[in-house]
Amino acid sequence: MNRSEILSRLEDNSETWDVIIIGGGATGLGIAVDAATRGYKVALVEQADFGEGTSSKSTKLIHGGVRYLRSGEVSLVKESLRERGRLFQNAPNSVKALAFVVPAYRWYERLFYGAGLFLYDFLAGSLGIKKTAHLNAKEILEVLPNLNSEGLRGGTLYWDGQFDDTRLLIALARTAVANGAAVINHVKVTGLIKENEKVIGVNAVEQVSGNEISLKAKVVVNATGAFTDAIRKMNNEEAEEVITPSQGIHIVLEREFLDGDTGIMIPNTDDGRVLFAIPWHNRVLLGTTDTGDVPVSLHPKPLKEEIDYLLEHAGRYLTKAPTHKDIRASFAGLRPLVRPPDSKGKSTSKISRSHSIFVSDSGMLTIAGGKWTTYRQMAEDAVDRVAELGDFPNAPCSTYDLSLLDQSTAEDEAAADESLRQPLDPELPYTMADVAAAVRTEMAVTLEDVLHRRTRCAFLDESAASRCSGKVVTWMEKEIGGTVPEL
Ligand SMILES: Cc1cc2nc3c(=O)[nH]c(=O)nc-3n(C[C@H](O)[C@H](O)[C@H](O)COP(=O)(O)OP(=O)(O)OC[C@H]3O[C@@H](n4cnc5c(N)ncnc54)[C@H](O)[C@@H]3O)c2cc1C
Repeated sequence: MNRSEILSRLEDNSETWDVIIIGGGATGLGIAVDAATRGYKVALVEQADFGEGTSSKSTKLIHGGVRYLRSGEVSLVKESLRERGRLFQNAPNSVKALAFVVPAYRWYERLFYGAGLFLYDFLAGSLGIKKTAHLNAKEILEVLPNLNSEGLRGGTLYWDGQFDDTRLLIALARTAVANGAAVINHVKVTGLIKENEKVIGVNAVEQVSGNEISLKAKVVVNATGAFTDAIRKMNNEEAEEVITPSQGIHIVLEREFLDGDTGIMIPNTDDGRVLFAIPWHNRVLLGTTDTGDVPVSLHPKPLKEEIDYLLEHAGRYLTKAPTHKDIRASFAGLRPLVRPPDSKGKSTSKISRSHSIFVSDSGMLTIAGGKWTTYRQMAEDAVDRVAELGDFPNAPCSTYDLSLLDQSTAEDEAAADESLRQPLDPELPYTMADVAAAVRTEMAVTLEDVLHRRTRCAFLDESAASRCSGKVVTWMEKEIGGTVPEL
């Protein structure tokens, strides 16, 4: 992907696009892939970096969401399990199978959670990963040596998918571009262009140069996650707010807290949330929380009480209780939940994770809610409506079995240049070849793009990321022949 070429294409006002998508998270990039592969002329603009909103801050699970069975959302679970299966087929380099154990410390838990997990497996049908199994306490401790054994009565082992969210975003961007779309990061929409009360385009500002760009389209799509209402208000100041943001945080610990390749899932914490401890790269990911009533921000911060909550619960289930000084990194994201009419006073953890589509009187389509796992179905539903709104030639969705271009080019960079093979830091699983691939072919513009979202350095170990930032900037400056922008 060549950012300068894409920018020139966008700056050339002669093109009228079929669809302009605002927002480069999972939802927007999924729509770009769907619309481009139907043959529509697509532009996508992201105000910051791809995934800098919520889509880089997930638990990194491609899952059916077994907990939604408890709230009776069987159709959402079935849809998610089907999409999980599609991703295993379509992005085999990005998604891998991961075993989870739900430990049982009370006699009824094994029966209750076991029944739910066998149903989960059944609902996946032929797209299931591997069979759910009951394990006794000894068998559980063999796969999870760091699990607290006191009072352990056994448990259930089940399978889900794990992925690296920002790597899949790059695969989506690459696939969209390969199918003719112009997708770009660091271009912020500042206003909507209207004609005869209809939205016919967007005004935007390229963040590196400060240049203004006007783009015209038959249909404009608002896929801005937690920012959905801000864009809706650009269209109509009186627009009803449809989003309830809910903050979720993760903390990242040393691998010694959870040896092996199996995650832990605690389905019901004190306040009814779900807690995961997951091996991720060379670390352990612990999350998440569900904190309502939070302001919308691109960079929300983990709250002290959220960190305390995760540490306190982890301490109950792990042989060694982690403390604040064991935290290598932490990050927070906002779930763009669609506010149901009866949501007043309801905990955000009880609000459905299904998606909704709204079309304004001026013809702008907004899509919000959903999950990373279901991005493909969300995109299909959105583009079906876009085609109606734009009166486009009928073209069926082709993403169900579309292979995504999910191979990193870092290996090619390393093969071509031996000097790029040095690790960025002894604590990090990345080399300068990853930086080179990020800058040369993955549209990384800033140091943060490289350290947070092309590699996951800053998500895995904040101190190590800061240690290697000097040499990464030096390399980037040499490569681009100038100063690395700070945005
Ligand atoms: C803590 C947490 C854990 C989660 N874990 C999982 C999980 O394990 N599995 C799963 O399936 N789902 C998970 N989810 C849900 C999933 O991450 C989200 O549903 C998904 O990432 C939302 O994507 P999005 O594209 O709608 O929003 P975003 O990723 O936020 O993208 C919207 C984009 O719009 C851009 N934007 C806003 N305004 C403008 C503008 N004016 N101009 C241009 N661009 C603009 C933003 O910068 C942003 O990048 C999790 C969510 C959270 C919060």
